[in-house]
Amino acid sequence: MVIQGKSVFSGIAIGRLSVYNKAENVVKRTKISDTEAEIKRFEDAREEAKKQLAGLYDKALKEVGEVNAAIFEVHQMMLEDLDYVESIENMIRNQEVNAEFAVANTGDNFSEMFASMDDDYMKERAADVKDISNRLVSVLQGAGVAGIHSDEPVILLADDLAPSETVQLDKSKVLSFVTRHGSTNSHTAILARTMNIPALIGVDYPEDIEGKMGIVDGFEGKIIIDPTMSLLEEYQQKKEKEDEKKRLLQELKGKENITLDGKKINLYANIGGVSDVASVLANDAGGIGLFRSEFLYLESETYPTEEEQFKAYRTVAENMAGKKVIIRTLDIGADKQVGYFNLDKEENPALGYRAIRICLDRTDIFKTQLRALYRASYYGNISIMFPMIISVSEVKQIKEIIKEVKAELDEAGVPYKDAEIGIMIETPAAVMVSEDLAKEVDFFSVGTNDLTQYTLAIDRQNPKLDNIYDSHHPAVLKMLQMIAENGHKHGCWVGICGELGADTTLTETFLKMGYDELSVSPSMILKVRDKIRNTDTNK
Ligand code: PEP
Ligand code: MG
Repeated sequence: MVIQGKSVFSGIAIGRLSVYNKAENVVKRTKISDTEAEIKRFEDAREEAKKQLAGLYDKALKEVGEVNAAIFEVHQMMLEDLDYVESIENMIRNQEVNAEFAVANTGDNFSEMFASMDDDYMKERAADVKDISNRLVSVLQGAGVAGIHSDEPVILLADDLAPSETVQLDKSKVLSFVTRHGSTNSHTAILARTMNIPALIGVDYPEDIEGKMGIVDGFEGKIIIDPTMSLLEEYQQKKEKEDEKKRLLQELKGKENITLDGKKINLYANIGGVSDVASVLANDAGGIGLFRSEFLYLESETYPTEEEQFKAYRTVAENMAGKKVIIRTLDIGADKQVGYFNLDKEENPALGYRAIRICLDRTDIFKTQLRALYRASYYGNISIMFPMIISVSEVKQIKEIIKEVKAELDEAGVPYKDAEIGIMIETPAAVMVSEDLAKEVDFFSVGTNDLTQYTLAIDRQNPKLDNIYDSHHPAVLKMLQMIAENGHKHGCWVGICGELGADTTLTETFLKMGYDELSVSPSMILKVRDKIRNTDTNK
Protein backbone atom coordinates (compact mmCIF):
# COMPACT_ATOMS: atom_id res chain seq x y z
CA MET A 1 0.00 0.00 0.00
CA VAL A 2 1.39 3.40 -0.99
CA ILE A 3 0.19 6.58 0.73
CA GLN A 4 1.14 9.95 -0.59
CA GLY A 5 1.95 12.80 1.80
CA LYS A 6 4.28 15.73 1.72
CA SER A 7 7.98 15.57 2.47
CA VAL A 8 9.50 17.93 5.01
CA PHE A 9 12.92 16.30 4.89
CA SER A 10 14.34 14.02 2.27
CA GLY A 11 16.01 10.67 2.70
CA ILE A 12 14.97 7.05 2.87
CA ALA A 13 14.01 5.07 5.94
CA ILE A 14 13.26 1.37 6.03
CA GLY A 15 11.92 -0.26 9.18
CA ARG A 16 8.96 -1.32 11.26
CA LEU A 17 6.06 1.07 11.73
CA SER A 18 5.00 2.17 15.18
CA VAL A 19 2.18 4.46 16.14
CA TYR A 20 3.09 7.15 18.67
CA ASN A 21 1.45 6.68 22.01
CA LYS A 22 0.24 10.06 23.20
CA ALA A 23 1.38 10.65 26.74
CA GLU A 24 -2.04 11.96 27.68
CA ASN A 25 -3.78 8.74 26.63
CA VAL A 26 -7.08 8.93 28.42
CA VAL A 27 -8.04 6.03 30.59
CA LYS A 28 -11.75 5.42 30.27
CA ARG A 29 -13.81 3.41 32.70
CA THR A 30 -15.62 0.52 31.03
CA LYS A 31 -17.81 -2.17 32.55
CA ILE A 32 -16.38 -5.67 32.31
CA SER A 33 -18.47 -8.84 32.47
CA ASP A 34 -15.66 -11.42 32.48
CA THR A 35 -13.61 -10.09 35.39
CA GLU A 36 -11.35 -13.17 35.58
CA ALA A 37 -10.31 -12.67 31.94
CA GLU A 38 -9.63 -9.02 32.77
CA ILE A 39 -7.44 -10.04 35.70
CA LYS A 40 -5.54 -12.33 33.34
CA ARG A 41 -5.03 -9.33 31.00
CA PHE A 42 -3.64 -7.39 33.93
CA GLU A 43 -1.32 -10.28 34.88
CA ASP A 44 0.00 -10.51 31.32
CA ALA A 45 0.61 -6.77 31.26
CA ARG A 46 2.45 -7.01 34.57
CA GLU A 47 4.73 -9.72 33.13
CA GLU A 48 5.38 -7.61 30.03
CA ALA A 49 6.15 -4.53 32.15
CA LYS A 50 8.60 -6.54 34.25
CA LYS A 51 10.31 -7.73 31.08
CA GLN A 52 10.59 -4.15 29.81
CA LEU A 53 12.08 -3.05 33.12
CA ALA A 54 14.61 -5.88 33.12
CA GLY A 55 15.68 -4.77 29.64
CA LEU A 56 15.94 -1.16 30.76
CA TYR A 57 17.98 -2.21 33.79
CA ASP A 58 20.52 -4.03 31.58
CA LYS A 59 20.73 -1.10 29.17
CA ALA A 60 21.14 1.44 31.99
CA LEU A 61 23.74 -0.72 33.71
CA LYS A 62 25.92 -0.52 30.60
CA GLU A 63 25.24 3.11 29.85
CA VAL A 64 24.90 4.93 33.16
CA GLY A 65 26.20 2.55 35.81
CA GLU A 66 24.76 0.54 38.67
CA VAL A 67 23.63 3.37 40.91
CA ASN A 68 21.51 4.97 38.22
CA ALA A 69 20.23 1.65 36.91
CA ALA A 70 18.95 0.67 40.37
CA ILE A 71 15.69 2.55 39.86
CA PHE A 72 14.56 -0.03 37.31
CA GLU A 73 15.11 -2.75 39.90
CA VAL A 74 13.02 -0.80 42.38
CA HIS A 75 10.26 -0.55 39.79
CA GLN A 76 10.37 -4.29 39.16
CA MET A 77 10.02 -4.87 42.90
CA MET A 78 7.08 -2.51 43.10
CA LEU A 79 5.31 -4.52 40.44
CA GLU A 80 5.55 -7.48 42.83
CA ASP A 81 4.11 -5.55 45.75
CA LEU A 82 1.15 -7.51 47.07
CA ASP A 83 -0.84 -4.53 48.35
CA TYR A 84 -0.59 -2.83 44.97
CA VAL A 85 -1.41 -5.94 42.93
CA GLU A 86 -4.30 -7.01 45.18
CA SER A 87 -5.77 -3.56 45.20
CA ILE A 88 -5.91 -3.60 41.40
CA GLU A 89 -7.32 -7.12 41.21
CA ASN A 90 -9.96 -6.38 43.86
CA MET A 91 -11.04 -3.32 41.99
CA ILE A 92 -11.44 -5.25 38.73
CA ARG A 93 -13.35 -8.03 40.53
CA ASN A 94 -15.57 -5.96 42.84
CA GLN A 95 -16.27 -2.95 40.66
CA GLU A 96 -16.27 -4.86 37.33
CA VAL A 97 -14.01 -2.30 35.70
CA ASN A 98 -11.37 -2.58 32.99
CA ALA A 99 -7.76 -3.19 33.99
CA GLU A 100 -6.53 0.19 32.69
CA PHE A 101 -8.97 2.02 34.93
CA ALA A 102 -8.13 -0.11 37.97
CA VAL A 103 -4.38 0.40 37.46
CA ALA A 104 -4.66 4.16 36.93
CA ASN A 105 -6.90 4.55 39.97
CA THR A 106 -4.79 2.41 42.25
CA GLY A 107 -1.70 4.21 40.99
CA ASP A 108 -3.22 7.58 41.91
CA ASN A 109 -4.28 6.36 45.37
CA PHE A 110 -0.92 4.80 46.22
CA SER A 111 0.97 7.76 44.91
CA GLU A 112 -1.09 10.17 47.03
CA MET A 113 -0.52 7.96 50.05
CA PHE A 114 3.27 7.98 49.53
CA ALA A 115 3.32 11.72 48.86
CA SER A 116 1.67 12.43 52.21
CA MET A 117 4.28 10.47 54.22
CA ASP A 118 6.90 12.27 56.32
CA ASP A 119 9.81 10.09 55.30
CA ASP A 120 11.62 11.64 52.31
CA TYR A 121 12.47 8.25 50.85
CA MET A 122 8.83 7.19 50.91
CA LYS A 123 7.75 10.52 49.47
CA GLU A 124 9.94 9.91 46.46
CA ARG A 125 8.18 6.60 45.83
CA ALA A 126 5.05 8.54 44.84
CA ALA A 127 6.54 9.32 41.45
CA ASP A 128 7.68 5.71 41.06
CA VAL A 129 4.18 4.31 41.63
CA LYS A 130 2.88 6.74 39.03
CA ASP A 131 5.61 5.64 36.68
CA ILE A 132 4.94 1.92 36.95
CA SER A 133 1.18 2.52 36.71
CA ASN A 134 1.70 4.52 33.51
CA ARG A 135 3.85 1.75 32.15
CA LEU A 136 1.16 -0.84 32.91
CA VAL A 137 -1.53 1.32 31.31
CA SER A 138 0.63 1.75 28.21
CA VAL A 139 1.16 -1.99 27.93
CA LEU A 140 -2.57 -2.61 28.42
CA GLN A 141 -3.34 -0.08 25.73
CA GLY A 142 -0.95 -1.84 23.41
CA ALA A 143 1.64 0.90 23.34
CA GLY A 144 5.11 1.32 24.74
CA VAL A 145 6.29 3.94 27.15
CA ALA A 146 7.91 7.20 26.10
CA GLY A 147 5.79 7.30 23.00
CA ILE A 148 7.40 4.38 21.20
CA HIS A 149 6.22 0.82 21.33
CA SER A 150 9.39 -0.95 20.36
CA ASP A 151 12.94 -1.53 21.45
CA GLU A 152 14.14 -1.30 17.85
CA PRO A 153 14.37 1.98 15.93
CA VAL A 154 11.06 2.54 14.13
CA ILE A 155 9.26 4.69 11.61
CA LEU A 156 7.10 6.71 13.97
CA LEU A 157 3.55 7.58 12.93
CA ALA A 158 1.36 10.09 14.74
CA ASP A 159 -1.67 12.27 14.21
CA ASP A 160 0.53 15.20 15.03
CA LEU A 161 3.52 15.77 17.28
CA ALA A 162 3.88 18.87 19.41
CA PRO A 163 7.42 20.19 19.86
CA SER A 164 7.23 19.27 23.55
CA GLU A 165 6.45 15.66 22.59
CA THR A 166 9.13 15.49 19.93
CA VAL A 167 11.89 16.70 22.23
CA GLN A 168 11.08 14.01 24.74
CA LEU A 169 11.37 11.13 22.28
CA ASP A 170 14.28 8.76 22.47
CA LYS A 171 15.89 9.98 19.24
CA SER A 172 17.97 6.86 18.78
CA LYS A 173 14.74 4.96 18.25
CA VAL A 174 13.29 7.07 15.45
CA LEU A 175 14.15 6.36 11.80
CA SER A 176 11.55 8.74 10.41
CA PHE A 177 8.53 10.85 11.42
CA VAL A 178 5.23 10.49 9.58
CA THR A 179 2.26 12.57 10.68
CA ARG A 180 -1.32 13.01 9.52
CA HIS A 181 -1.32 16.72 10.29
CA GLY A 182 1.38 19.33 10.82
CA SER A 183 2.96 21.75 8.40
CA THR A 184 6.30 22.05 6.62
CA ASN A 185 7.30 24.97 8.77
CA SER A 186 6.29 23.60 12.14
CA HIS A 187 8.93 23.07 14.77
CA THR A 188 8.46 19.33 14.57
CA ALA A 189 9.51 19.48 10.91
CA ILE A 190 12.49 21.59 11.94
CA LEU A 191 13.44 19.00 14.54
CA ALA A 192 13.30 16.24 11.93
CA ARG A 193 15.77 18.23 9.85
CA THR A 194 18.03 18.66 12.86
CA MET A 195 17.90 14.93 13.43
CA ASN A 196 18.69 14.34 9.77
CA ILE A 197 15.88 11.85 9.26
CA PRO A 198 13.23 11.73 6.52
CA ALA A 199 9.89 13.12 7.58
CA LEU A 200 6.46 13.29 5.99
CA ILE A 201 3.30 15.20 6.85
CA GLY A 202 -0.26 14.89 5.57
CA VAL A 203 -0.16 11.08 5.49
CA ASP A 204 -3.56 9.55 6.16
CA TYR A 205 -2.36 6.15 7.36
CA PRO A 206 -4.74 3.33 8.40
CA GLU A 207 -5.14 2.31 12.04
CA ASP A 208 -3.90 -1.29 12.09
CA ILE A 209 -0.31 -0.90 11.01
CA GLU A 210 1.62 -1.38 14.24
CA GLY A 211 4.67 -3.54 13.62
CA LYS A 212 4.26 -3.75 9.86
CA MET A 213 7.21 -3.17 7.57
CA GLY A 214 7.42 0.24 5.93
CA ILE A 215 9.49 2.42 3.64
CA VAL A 216 9.52 6.20 3.88
CA ASP A 217 10.54 7.92 0.68
CA GLY A 218 11.33 11.47 1.74
CA PHE A 219 12.22 12.43 -1.83
CA GLU A 220 8.80 11.67 -3.23
CA GLY A 221 6.87 12.30 -0.03
CA LYS A 222 5.33 8.85 0.23
CA ILE A 223 5.20 5.90 2.55
CA ILE A 224 4.98 2.30 1.41
CA ILE A 225 3.36 -0.09 3.86
CA ASP A 226 4.04 -3.83 3.59
CA PRO A 227 6.35 -3.49 0.59
CA THR A 228 7.08 -6.44 -1.67
CA MET A 229 10.52 -8.04 -1.53
CA SER A 230 11.49 -6.45 -4.83
CA LEU A 231 10.49 -2.95 -3.63
CA LEU A 232 12.43 -3.51 -0.43
CA GLU A 233 15.49 -4.42 -2.44
CA GLU A 234 15.04 -1.44 -4.74
CA TYR A 235 14.84 0.94 -1.78
CA GLN A 236 17.72 -0.72 -0.02
CA GLN A 237 19.80 0.13 -3.07
CA LYS A 238 18.49 3.71 -3.19
CA LYS A 239 19.35 4.08 0.46
CA GLU A 240 22.87 2.82 -0.13
CA LYS A 241 23.30 5.37 -2.94
CA GLU A 242 22.07 8.10 -0.60
CA ASP A 243 24.49 6.99 2.10
CA GLU A 244 27.25 7.09 -0.50
CA LYS A 245 26.33 10.69 -1.42
CA LYS A 246 26.47 11.60 2.25
CA ARG A 247 29.87 9.97 2.50
CA LEU A 248 31.09 12.05 -0.43
CA LEU A 249 29.89 15.23 1.22
CA GLN A 250 32.05 14.27 4.19
CA GLU A 251 35.05 15.14 2.06
CA LEU A 252 34.05 18.78 2.37
CA LYS A 253 34.83 18.71 6.06
CA GLY A 254 37.62 21.04 7.01
CA LYS A 255 37.18 23.00 3.76
CA GLU A 256 36.36 26.71 3.63
CA ASN A 257 32.98 28.19 2.78
CA ILE A 258 34.35 30.14 -0.13
CA THR A 259 32.87 30.89 -3.55
CA LEU A 260 34.72 30.38 -6.83
CA ASP A 261 35.32 34.14 -6.92
CA GLY A 262 36.70 34.21 -3.40
CA LYS A 263 33.72 35.40 -1.28
CA LYS A 264 33.66 33.86 2.18
CA ILE A 265 30.65 33.30 4.39
CA ASN A 266 30.19 31.87 7.86
CA LEU A 267 28.21 28.68 7.95
CA TYR A 268 26.74 27.89 11.34
CA ALA A 269 24.24 25.36 12.68
CA ASN A 270 20.82 25.58 14.36
CA ILE A 271 20.29 23.49 17.47
CA GLY A 272 17.58 22.80 20.02
CA GLY A 273 19.68 21.50 22.88
CA VAL A 274 22.97 20.28 24.25
CA SER A 275 22.63 16.87 22.62
CA ASP A 276 22.62 18.41 19.12
CA VAL A 277 26.17 19.69 19.55
CA ALA A 278 27.52 16.29 18.52
CA SER A 279 25.97 16.63 15.06
CA VAL A 280 27.15 20.25 14.82
CA LEU A 281 30.72 19.05 15.30
CA ALA A 282 30.25 15.96 13.14
CA ASN A 283 29.10 18.16 10.25
CA ASP A 284 31.92 20.65 10.75
CA ALA A 285 29.82 23.77 11.33
CA GLY A 286 31.81 26.92 12.03
CA GLY A 287 29.65 27.76 15.01
CA ILE A 288 26.10 27.71 16.30
CA GLY A 289 23.95 30.40 14.71
CA LEU A 290 20.76 29.63 16.60
CA PHE A 291 20.38 27.74 19.85
CA ARG A 292 16.62 27.64 20.40
CA SER A 293 16.87 27.89 24.19
CA GLU A 294 13.12 27.44 24.62
CA PHE A 295 13.61 23.70 24.13
CA LEU A 296 15.22 23.63 27.58
CA TYR A 297 11.92 24.95 28.89
CA LEU A 298 9.87 22.55 26.76
CA GLU A 299 11.78 19.53 28.05
CA SER A 300 11.32 20.57 31.63
CA GLU A 301 8.43 19.97 34.03
CA THR A 302 8.87 23.40 35.54
CA TYR A 303 10.93 26.57 35.03
CA PRO A 304 14.55 25.51 34.47
CA THR A 305 16.66 27.07 37.20
CA GLU A 306 19.54 29.49 36.60
CA GLU A 307 21.95 26.71 37.50
CA GLU A 308 20.40 24.20 35.09
CA GLN A 309 20.49 26.73 32.29
CA PHE A 310 24.01 27.84 33.11
CA LYS A 311 25.20 24.22 32.89
CA ALA A 312 23.53 23.70 29.51
CA TYR A 313 24.89 26.94 27.99
CA ARG A 314 28.33 26.39 29.45
CA THR A 315 28.48 22.81 28.12
CA VAL A 316 27.58 23.99 24.63
CA ALA A 317 30.08 26.87 24.76
CA GLU A 318 32.85 24.61 26.03
CA ASN A 319 32.16 21.85 23.51
CA MET A 320 32.30 24.41 20.72
CA ALA A 321 35.76 25.37 21.97
CA GLY A 322 35.88 29.07 21.17
CA LYS A 323 33.63 28.94 18.10
CA LYS A 324 30.69 31.32 18.09
CA VAL A 325 27.56 30.12 19.91
CA ILE A 326 24.50 32.34 19.41
CA ILE A 327 21.91 31.61 22.03
CA ARG A 328 18.42 32.92 21.47
CA THR A 329 16.49 33.84 24.57
CA LEU A 330 13.19 32.17 25.36
CA ASP A 331 10.88 32.11 22.36
CA ILE A 332 7.70 30.38 23.52
CA GLY A 333 4.10 30.90 22.59
CA ALA A 334 2.26 30.03 19.35
CA ASP A 335 3.10 26.36 18.59
CA LYS A 336 5.68 26.15 21.38
CA GLN A 337 3.43 25.89 24.42
CA VAL A 338 4.85 25.21 27.85
CA GLY A 339 2.20 24.00 30.30
CA TYR A 340 3.67 25.46 33.49
CA PHE A 341 3.66 28.99 32.08
CA ASN A 342 -0.15 28.77 32.27
CA LEU A 343 -0.57 31.03 29.29
CA ASP A 344 -4.12 32.07 28.48
CA LYS A 345 -5.74 30.58 25.42
CA GLU A 346 -5.56 33.19 22.70
CA GLU A 347 -7.52 33.79 19.52
CA ASN A 348 -4.31 34.47 17.57
CA PRO A 349 -1.37 32.99 19.46
CA ALA A 350 1.12 33.73 16.66
CA LEU A 351 0.24 37.40 17.14
CA GLY A 352 -0.05 37.05 20.86
CA TYR A 353 1.71 37.00 24.18
CA ARG A 354 4.94 35.32 23.16
CA ALA A 355 8.74 35.41 23.04
CA ILE A 356 10.30 38.75 24.01
CA ARG A 357 6.86 40.08 24.97
CA ILE A 358 6.68 37.52 27.78
CA CYS A 359 10.28 38.20 28.78
CA LEU A 360 9.78 41.95 29.02
CA ASP A 361 6.64 41.38 31.04
CA ARG A 362 7.88 38.62 33.32
CA THR A 363 11.33 40.00 33.91
CA ASP A 364 12.04 37.49 36.69
CA ILE A 365 12.10 34.70 34.10
CA PHE A 366 14.10 36.83 31.68
CA LYS A 367 16.70 37.86 34.25
CA THR A 368 17.20 34.26 35.36
CA GLN A 369 17.99 33.33 31.78
CA LEU A 370 20.24 36.34 31.19
CA ARG A 371 22.19 35.65 34.38
CA ALA A 372 22.74 32.05 33.26
CA LEU A 373 23.80 33.26 29.80
CA TYR A 374 26.27 35.85 31.07
CA ARG A 375 27.73 33.41 33.58
CA ALA A 376 28.22 30.86 30.79
CA SER A 377 29.71 33.50 28.48
CA TYR A 378 32.89 33.31 30.51
CA TYR A 379 33.51 29.76 29.28
CA GLY A 380 33.41 30.28 25.52
CA ASN A 381 32.29 32.56 22.74
CA ILE A 382 28.61 33.21 23.43
CA SER A 383 26.44 35.79 21.67
CA ILE A 384 22.92 36.55 22.86
CA MET A 385 20.02 37.02 20.46
CA PHE A 386 16.48 38.25 21.08
CA PRO A 387 13.42 36.98 19.17
CA MET A 388 10.29 38.67 17.77
CA ILE A 389 11.56 42.23 18.02
CA ILE A 390 9.29 44.93 16.60
CA SER A 391 10.75 48.18 17.90
CA VAL A 392 13.81 50.09 19.05
CA SER A 393 12.21 50.66 22.44
CA GLU A 394 12.14 46.90 23.08
CA VAL A 395 15.87 46.73 22.42
CA LYS A 396 16.45 49.65 24.77
CA GLN A 397 14.45 47.90 27.50
CA ILE A 398 16.46 44.72 26.95
CA LYS A 399 19.70 46.65 27.26
CA GLU A 400 18.54 48.20 30.55
CA ILE A 401 17.79 44.73 31.93
CA ILE A 402 21.18 43.48 30.75
CA LYS A 403 22.78 46.38 32.64
CA GLU A 404 21.00 45.31 35.81
CA VAL A 405 22.07 41.71 35.36
CA LYS A 406 25.69 42.70 34.79
CA ALA A 407 25.64 44.96 37.85
CA GLU A 408 24.33 42.07 39.95
CA LEU A 409 27.05 39.77 38.64
CA ASP A 410 29.70 42.43 39.28
CA GLU A 411 28.50 42.85 42.81
CA ALA A 412 28.61 39.11 43.42
CA GLY A 413 32.08 38.93 41.85
CA VAL A 414 30.90 36.48 39.18
CA PRO A 415 33.03 36.57 36.01
CA TYR A 416 31.40 37.07 32.59
CA LYS A 417 32.24 38.35 29.15
CA ASP A 418 30.74 41.27 27.33
CA ALA A 419 28.81 39.05 24.94
CA GLU A 420 27.82 40.33 21.51
CA ILE A 421 24.10 41.04 21.33
CA GLY A 422 21.87 40.69 18.32
CA ILE A 423 18.26 40.47 17.32
CA MET A 424 16.16 38.30 15.12
CA ILE A 425 14.55 40.12 12.25
CA GLU A 426 11.34 38.19 11.84
CA THR A 427 8.60 40.80 11.77
CA PRO A 428 7.93 43.26 8.93
CA ALA A 429 8.08 46.02 11.58
CA ALA A 430 11.67 45.12 12.41
CA VAL A 431 12.54 45.17 8.72
CA MET A 432 11.09 48.64 8.29
CA VAL A 433 13.00 50.05 11.26
CA SER A 434 16.10 47.93 10.68
CA GLU A 435 18.28 50.97 10.07
CA ASP A 436 17.51 52.27 13.57
CA LEU A 437 17.75 48.82 15.11
CA ALA A 438 21.19 48.37 13.56
CA LYS A 439 22.49 51.28 15.65
CA GLU A 440 21.58 49.39 18.83
CA VAL A 441 23.02 45.90 18.28
CA ASP A 442 25.99 43.94 16.96
CA PHE A 443 24.18 41.67 14.52
CA PHE A 444 20.94 40.72 12.81
CA SER A 445 19.77 37.19 12.13
CA VAL A 446 16.77 36.86 9.88
CA GLY A 447 14.09 34.42 11.00
CA THR A 448 12.60 33.71 7.61
CA ASN A 449 10.08 31.22 9.01
CA ASP A 450 8.24 33.89 10.94
CA LEU A 451 9.13 36.70 8.57
CA THR A 452 7.38 34.81 5.75
CA GLN A 453 4.37 34.10 7.97
CA TYR A 454 3.95 37.73 9.04
CA THR A 455 4.76 39.25 5.66
CA LEU A 456 2.36 37.05 3.72
CA ALA A 457 -0.18 36.88 6.57
CA ILE A 458 -0.07 33.08 6.33
CA ASP A 459 -0.07 30.96 9.47
CA ARG A 460 3.07 28.79 9.18
CA GLN A 461 1.25 26.06 11.13
CA ASN A 462 -1.71 25.75 8.80
CA PRO A 463 -1.26 22.73 6.48
CA LYS A 464 -4.01 24.03 4.20
CA LEU A 465 -1.86 27.04 3.38
CA ASP A 466 1.41 25.16 3.00
CA ASN A 467 1.27 25.47 -0.79
CA ILE A 468 1.04 29.28 -0.70
CA TYR A 469 3.46 29.82 2.18
CA ASP A 470 6.18 30.98 -0.17
CA SER A 471 9.48 32.14 1.31
CA HIS A 472 10.59 33.02 -2.24
CA HIS A 473 7.85 35.64 -2.51
CA PRO A 474 9.36 38.87 -3.87
CA ALA A 475 8.16 40.69 -0.75
CA VAL A 476 10.30 38.41 1.42
CA LEU A 477 13.31 38.65 -0.88
CA LYS A 478 13.09 42.45 -1.03
CA MET A 479 13.02 42.53 2.75
CA LEU A 480 16.08 40.31 2.91
CA GLN A 481 17.93 42.76 0.67
CA MET A 482 16.83 45.70 2.78
CA ILE A 483 17.88 44.03 6.05
CA ALA A 484 21.38 43.30 4.75
CA GLU A 485 21.84 46.87 3.50
CA ASN A 486 20.53 48.52 6.64
CA GLY A 487 22.51 46.26 8.93
CA HIS A 488 25.74 46.89 7.10
CA LYS A 489 25.18 50.66 7.09
CA HIS A 490 25.71 50.68 10.84
CA GLY A 491 28.31 47.99 11.24
CA CYS A 492 26.08 45.02 12.04
CA TRP A 493 26.90 41.70 10.53
CA VAL A 494 23.84 39.98 9.04
CA GLY A 495 22.82 36.36 8.86
CA ILE A 496 19.84 34.13 8.15
CA CYS A 497 18.81 31.44 10.61
CA GLY A 498 15.35 30.56 9.28
CA GLU A 499 14.88 27.44 7.18
CA LEU A 500 15.33 29.46 3.99
CA GLY A 501 19.02 29.79 4.83
CA ALA A 502 19.46 26.15 3.81
CA ASP A 503 17.66 26.57 0.48
CA THR A 504 20.49 26.05 -1.97
CA THR A 505 18.49 27.54 -4.85
CA LEU A 506 18.95 30.88 -3.05
CA THR A 507 22.52 30.53 -1.78
CA GLU A 508 23.83 32.63 -4.66
CA THR A 509 21.18 35.31 -4.03
CA PHE A 510 22.12 35.52 -0.35
CA LEU A 511 25.80 35.83 -1.21
CA LYS A 512 25.05 38.59 -3.70
CA MET A 513 22.93 40.40 -1.14
CA GLY A 514 26.00 40.42 1.08
CA TYR A 515 24.92 38.09 3.86
CA ASP A 516 27.77 37.31 6.23
CA GLU A 517 26.34 34.18 7.76
CA LEU A 518 23.90 31.36 7.13
CA SER A 519 22.74 29.15 9.96
CA VAL A 520 21.14 25.85 8.96
CA SER A 521 20.28 22.44 10.38
CA PRO A 522 23.48 20.51 11.12
CA SER A 523 22.45 17.98 8.48
CA MET A 524 22.46 20.71 5.81
CA ILE A 525 25.90 22.22 6.52
CA LEU A 526 27.89 20.21 4.00
CA LYS A 527 25.25 20.50 1.27
CA VAL A 528 25.26 24.29 1.61
CA ARG A 529 29.06 24.33 1.74
CA ASP A 530 29.11 22.35 -1.50
CA LYS A 531 26.79 24.92 -3.09
CA ILE A 532 28.87 27.88 -1.88
CA ARG A 533 32.06 26.35 -3.25
CA ASN A 534 30.44 25.91 -6.66
CA THR A 535 29.01 29.42 -6.87
CA ASP A 536 30.48 32.34 -8.77
CA THR A 537 28.85 35.58 -7.63
CA ASN A 538 30.35 37.53 -10.55
CA LYS A 539 28.29 35.67 -13.08
C1 PEP B 1 12.31 31.86 12.33
O1 PEP B 1 11.22 32.31 12.67
O2 PEP B 1 12.73 31.85 11.15
C2 PEP B 1 13.20 31.24 13.34
C3 PEP B 1 14.44 30.88 13.04
O3 PEP B 1 12.70 31.01 14.58
P1 PEP B 1 11.63 29.85 14.91
O4 PEP B 1 11.53 28.96 13.69
O5 PEP B 1 12.12 29.13 16.10
O6 PEP B 1 10.39 30.63 15.14
MG1 MG C 1 10.78 32.67 14.75
